Amino acid sequence: MPSSSTTNPGIIEPHLLSGRRIVNISYFMSQIQVMNNHGHFECSFSSMKIMSEVRKGLTSGIRMKCEMCQFQEMVWTEDPDNEQRPVNTAAVSGVMKIGGGFANLEQLLSTFDIPPLSSKTYQKEHNIIATAW
Ligand SMILES: [Zn+2]
Repeated sequence: MPSSSTTNPGIIEPHLLSGRRIVNISYFMSQIQVMNNHGHFECSFSSMKIMSEVRKGLTSGIRMKCEMCQFQEMVWTEDPDNEQRPVNTAAVSGVMKIGGGFANLEQLLSTFDIPPLSSKTYQKEHNIIATAW
């Protein structure tokens, strides 16, 4: 089954995303608007395909590539460098406030069809929050 774009340089095999994500809607939309005007050709956001997804807990980075000009960009669900309250911190803090733990958060996220954060990421956030309380 051919899957590599190196065999067919003009055709991009798009990566399929599934389920839901939690996004900072304002940040996410502004990135899409920027990408819509990325090229000198007649390409726009609609010529861009999803290449891959990187997940850091509940934060996702979606790598996009333009089929026409090969421009590539990573779109993040929140600003990785400048988020007031990162979603991982908010999720762990929120579940702690209602007296829950990792399993409760995992169950909640699963019900929403949101890929869960790992127990390692949960523990890291938990430790930071617990020392701040
Ligand atoms: Zn382009």
